[in-house]
Amino acid sequence: MPEESGVARGLEALNAVLDGARERLRVRRVGPGFARDSEPAPENSPDPALRVARRAADLLGRLEPRRLKQCANPGCDLLFYDETRNASRRWCSVSLCGNRLKQARFRLARPVVR
Ligand SMILES: [Zn+2]
Repeated sequence: MPEESGVARGLEALNAVLDGARERLRVRRVGPGFARDSEPAPENSPDPALRVARRAADLLGRLEPRRLKQCANPGCDLLFYDETRNASRRWCSVSLCGNRLKQARFRLARPVVR
């Protein structure tokens, strides 16, 4: 799970956007996860930030916290949701961050030939 203070700031920002909705919709921490307190209205809001916030609230209410991960590449700030069966995914993208780190490790491990 990402840093707790970052999570708290993110929830505060998300709930500030959700305050603009006609219905009361809040996200709160429940143990290691999140819970959504009410259902969003069925109509689409013209406010794109509110539509994104509603989708985020839906997602946060359903996700498993252990599957929300930060990419293992120290140079990458991306978060991803690990949907693998055994929750073993380490990279935001194997083709980008995974291969870059594997290539860097290979170059470091390869003996220098002169
Ligand atoms: Zn990455």
